[in-house]
Amino acid sequence: MSHQEIKRVFELSAMLFAHNTYQSLTHAIIHYFNSLDGVEEVAAYEIFGDVAKSEDVLIRRFPISLDEIDRDDNLNLIMRNLAESRGGVSLTEGEAGEPWIFLDVFNNVKPRRVILLKGALNETDMAIIEGLHRIYSNQVALLDSKERDALTHLLNRQTLEVTLNDIIVFYRGKDVRSQPKKSWIAILDIDFFKRVNDEFGHLYGDEVLLHFSRLMDKTFRHSDFLFRYGGEEFVVIINSCDEAAVELTLQRFRETVEAHAFPSGNITVSIGYTLIDRIAPPALLMEYADRALYYAKEHGRNQVKNFNTMEEGVTKEGDIDLF
Ligand code: GH3
Ligand code: MG
Ligand code: MG
Repeated sequence: MSHQEIKRVFELSAMLFAHNTYQSLTHAIIHYFNSLDGVEEVAAYEIFGDVAKSEDVLIRRFPISLDEIDRDDNLNLIMRNLAESRGGVSLTEGEAGEPWIFLDVFNNVKPRRVILLKGALNETDMAIIEGLHRIYSNQVALLDSKERDALTHLLNRQTLEVTLNDIIVFYRGKDVRSQPKKSWIAILDIDFFKRVNDEFGHLYGDEVLLHFSRLMDKTFRHSDFLFRYGGEEFVVIINSCDEAAVELTLQRFRETVEAHAFPSGNITVSIGYTLIDRIAPPALLMEYADRALYYAKEHGRNQVKNFNTMEEGVTKEGDIDLF
């Protein structure tokens, strides 16, 4: 690397180190790659599952736009390169022979991350990208330990607070209720999970939680956000969805759990959810979803309850002022 290149990498790494969330770090590196001459397209991905068994692999695109449609043309290209890659930066080709750069963050991070750049770059920019790849990889590993749950690698409770705030800000000034596409927040709580631990022990319990989180990865779309909220409680933020679709998605997940062969046999899940309304603060939204969950638990478990369709008498239970 020339003196100039080293200086450039140094400046860019200082810029990357200044970001203290995975989200803003990745936005920054995408923004930088987009500014390079010869680059036509940049996208980042999170890779879940075992690449050796390709049917198990799930690819989520980043960044997520709440208005975005659920479609991506790059998935074949990614799958083809994932199998061969052991991390680092490599050159590859698309379906029509067009050049792509494949940046793979393979070590130490779960989910694995990939950044794709469409276009051809000069040697200097390639050298810089290789330097940045190492810095980005280390930063991602560091931020993951802060933002993700160590067992399931889903986002953790602290990250939920930040994300929920971002979504509320996104909807601010928009008339959420009259829009067909809305965001929803659901709390998912495994039924009688204590029994799993009591009968099989904590290690088995953890294994069940891991299976459960993989089912979440498979069921929800790449534009939804998945969290481990606490022990056997999970949260999903479902984006760009109308009321009928969110109900269907959650019911489908409930059925998937019911049908799945967990290491401990069968389990079920209860789910409470609510609309993310721009006028309700995050704590109140969680309270609403939790009340719906409580209702589901009280009425036989293994069911999905929408807070917004609960009767007055039930919703007004408790001492929180609604509006
Ligand atoms: P309910 O249907 O009412 O939700 O019953 P439950 O037994 O699932 O509910 P409760 O909240 O009383 O118990 C949750 C249990 O989850 C308590 C604890 O044994 C277990 N648990 C919490 N965190 C973990 C964890 O990280 N690993 C394991 N293995 N178990 C956990
Ligand atoms: Mg619980
Ligand atoms: Mg439970």
